[in-house]
Amino acid sequence: MTPHIDEKVEPIFQEVLNRNPGETEFHQAVREVLESLGPVLVKHPEFGHHKIIERICEPERQIIFRVPWQDDEGNVQINRGFRVEFNSALGPYKGGLRFHPSVYLGIVKFLGFEQIFKNALTGLPIGGGKGGSDFDPKGKSDDEIMRFCQSFMTELYRHLGEYTDVPAGDIGVGGREIGYMFGQYKRITNRYESGILTGKGLDWGGSLVRTEATGYGATFFVQEMLKARGDSFDGKICTVSGSGNVAIYTIEKIHQLGGKVVACSDSGGYIYDEQGIDLELLQQLKEIERRRIKDYLNYRKHAKYVESGNIWNIPCQVAMPSATQNELNGKDAAKLVKNGCFAVGEGANMPTTPEGIRVFLEAGIAYGPGKAANAGGVATSALEMQQNASRDSWTFEYTEQRLEQIMKTIHRLCYENAEEYGTPGNYVNGANIAGFIKVANAMVAMGLV
Ligand code: NDP
Repeated sequence: MTPHIDEKVEPIFQEVLNRNPGETEFHQAVREVLESLGPVLVKHPEFGHHKIIERICEPERQIIFRVPWQDDEGNVQINRGFRVEFNSALGPYKGGLRFHPSVYLGIVKFLGFEQIFKNALTGLPIGGGKGGSDFDPKGKSDDEIMRFCQSFMTELYRHLGEYTDVPAGDIGVGGREIGYMFGQYKRITNRYESGILTGKGLDWGGSLVRTEATGYGATFFVQEMLKARGDSFDGKICTVSGSGNVAIYTIEKIHQLGGKVVACSDSGGYIYDEQGIDLELLQQLKEIERRRIKDYLNYRKHAKYVESGNIWNIPCQVAMPSATQNELNGKDAAKLVKNGCFAVGEGANMPTTPEGIRVFLEAGIAYGPGKAANAGGVATSALEMQQNASRDSWTFEYTEQRLEQIMKTIHRLCYENAEEYGTPGNYVNGANIAGFIKVANAMVAMGLV
């Protein structure tokens, strides 16, 4: 059935549009959740009475600040910083920081809103939040990155705390940036509080598997969807967009599970390697040398690079969008389905447009939305918080087992809720409903706060 907003919920959505003009990505994320909630209000009239949907759509707190810094030529630069503390019914605000020139309030709010339900699905005690800046790390020197991160943290630090708000990485924020921010926090506060950031280095409070977690987790989620249809990754041809943190570890796990990834991309274009992407080479280029993906050709002559090409034109059985929002539209989805794709797992947040989602749902393929499929990253961040709180560090094997178990549980929750609410196999409804009910119950219990 084509998704639509129930008539009881429609006025709430209109109010969100009126109160948040121009924030198109936020509208899209809210709409997608609200489309699932009509039947929930029928079963749970108390959520209507307590105005839970209206309250959940309004962030608890939004912080916007100036970030001044100096570039290597001595010029003063000004960026804008954001932290949206969306919902703390289940725990301290938790969600990454994104540094990308496209960042504005609408992007941070869409990400923060999705984060509420994603974090609820993990079953761990974490609320939802998100932040970032319109700073572009591309082409900047390490010194410039450090000066920017220090200035950003000089404002943000006062809002953080192990029991208050615990950011992590996202696009443009990896181990290097987390390091500079943690250093500045420690200097300003004179406190070694490991629990205020996750994604830390392994020598100073980080968790094994955190780097791999989002990609590994998304792949485990797809594995569960395939299993539910009596299938597996074995021998499957796969495409993975992006070539950042999420994409790289998605490729690694797919290869470990017997699939073959033939293409990946960056914002310049995509690489097609029919022998399978050489992961070691990709990591050298992207993680260590921070180069463009087209340089892959210098080392693998048989591969092809298509500048500004559309990776979704490549025939595959499993597609894992792992770059950014709205990177896969209705036409792309139709092309994928026509070419034989029968499973899509979103490593990125909201990478498929509403038209694309409609195509996947109508085709009846296994479609795992980001808020369920990529929850392994934040789940492992919560495991990092547990290790910090107990001043312990777990082995890689144990942490990965925990991650795999969490992804299996999330899959089961989505699967069962989709069935219970009359849309079997629809993981979008399953994820939205399961996540929402958990947060809504906590909000009702805590009264009007
Ligand atoms: P990275 O910065 O490590 O990598 C991002 C990748 O996506 C790069 O290859 C980048 O190419 C590409 N990309 C980014 N923006 C665009 C754009 N506008 N158009 C085309 N390509 C683009 O980020 P992550 O791998 O951490 O994040 C990828 C996605 O996964 C995001 O949607 C993020 O929100 C989501 N996610 C990340 C989690 C994490 O733990 N890191 C957790 C859950 C979700 P280029 O270098 O050319 O810009």
